[in-house]
Parts: sequence; structure tokens; C-alpha cells
Amino acid sequence: MCRATSRTTDRRETCEGTDSADGYGGIVDQRSDQLTDGQRAVFDGREATVSVTRERRRLGLTIERDGRLVVRTPLGAGFDAVDRFVRENRRWIDAKLELWRRHRPLNSAPRLAEGELFRYLGREYRLALTEASAPPAPVRLVAGQFLLDARVAEDPVLARAHLRRWYREAGADWSRGRLQPWAGRMEVAEPRLVVRDVGKRWGTYRAAPEPGGSPGVMALHWGLFQLPPRLIDYVIAHELAHIRVSGHGPDYWRLLRRAIPECESLKAELDEMGRHVWLGDLGR
Ligand SMILES: [Zn+2]
Repeated sequence: MCRATSRTTDRRETCEGTDSADGYGGIVDQRSDQLTDGQRAVFDGREATVSVTRERRRLGLTIERDGRLVVRTPLGAGFDAVDRFVRENRRWIDAKLELWRRHRPLNSAPRLAEGELFRYLGREYRLALTEASAPPAPVRLVAGQFLLDARVAEDPVLARAHLRRWYREAGADWSRGRLQPWAGRMEVAEPRLVVRDVGKRWGTYRAAPEPGGSPGVMALHWGLFQLPPRLIDYVIAHELAHIRVSGHGPDYWRLLRRAIPECESLKAELDEMGRHVWLGDLGR
């Protein structure tokens, strides 16, 4: 498992009310202006959604992934109590919203139209729709253009599947050449490599079931191959380091720093650039 290479979408943009936010002692007004579940209201000048939970005893705040503020209340909470609670936690909310703004994913949603930009290994390529090629290959990278079969482009589900597959195959081919030198440099056995959708992470490493048995498996996210090679190398080295050390303690970073002295700045760059990677959403 690999949190350090996790995409920023993996970070807790959802901020459950912490002690400071949740710890509002004065429980709740039982007033006629009781709030109802799902209600939207303005508290302390901020729009928020109310979420009422019968079992809850205290008020709480959450910043959802889309930046919405949610006020969590017990049954029977009144407007004034919540308004006061939001005001008292103004700084907490502002800090969390600022974090959210800085780390929210900005993943692109290109359209399947002539001229749209797709990236591979850090370079930009314009999409061109073509007539079927022989032999048929729905997606090709030729002479600086990303070629997509025009008939395939008419079916977004099919087109997305072909595009993803292209990234998977191109990414696997590219990485195979990198794995051996990195494994040699880091003095670890070369794992088996797969490129696929790794959920919210850029890569994972799974050790062999028994020591000395078959090699472990490294999985890299297909979306990663839109990024510049130095960032893909970083993820490969990051995962290889997990062969020796699991988790991300001081030992782990010491090991990785020996292989890539600039690993911290690469990680920061990956976090930032990774927010813009295309992950399969298509625009209209
Ligand atoms: Zn990791």
C-alpha cells in the first residue's frame, strides 16, 4: 500500500469535524426553528447543508470533496445554535477550505473532438479523428498526433476504453525499459509489472506470497503515463523501495533518498501535476 504516491484526490479533502469543531459543548437549542435533514441554509454568512443524525449528540462540520460545507447536527438542533457554532469555528472552516482549494483535483475532461489535447510522457498531442486504419488500431500516436478512429469516437464508452487501453499498453512498454535499471540501482529483484487502474493511487507494490518465491507485483496507474518521465521514474522507485521497507517511516525515505536525492521535490511535483491528469472523464 502506498500513501506517499497517492493522488491528491486521496487526501482527506473531507474534513470531519475535529475536536475543535466537534467539541462545542453547549449542546443544542430545542427551538421552533428546528433544522431538517438536507436543508440548505446560511450560517454566519456561509451556505451550508444540514445533515441531521438521530444518534448524534454534538454539532460537527465537514468540508465535502466538492468543497461544500456540511453541518452535522443531532435531532432537534436550532438555527441559532448552529449559526453560533459555525461562527465559532470560522477559522477552522477557512483553513480547511484553503486546503481544499489547494489540493482539489482539477482533472481534465477532454472532448473527443479534433484538436483536443492529450498528454503522453509529459508531452501534449492534439487529437485527430481518422478513417479506419489498416490494420485496425483505434488509437495511435503518429507524427505528433493522437489519432482516434472517427467511428470509435462516436461512442464515448468505447472510445474511452480504447484510449485507456492505449495508455495501459504504451505505459507498460515504456516502464519495462525502466524497471530493470531502477531495480539494479536499488538492489532489489525486479517485480512483475502491470499497468491498470489503481484507484486513487499512482502505484502499488504487492510482495510475493512467500519469501524467495515468485517476484512481487508492481501496479502503475494508466493515467500516470501522461506525466513527464521523471515523475513516472519517481513512482517506480517509490514502489521498488517498498520491496525493502513497507510503510513510509524514516527508514523508507532514507532508502528512497539514496536512490533519488530529489524525491521530496518530485513528490510535490507529482501531487501538483497529478491533479490535472486525465482519468477517463470525457467532456461534451
Ligand atoms: Zn508508498
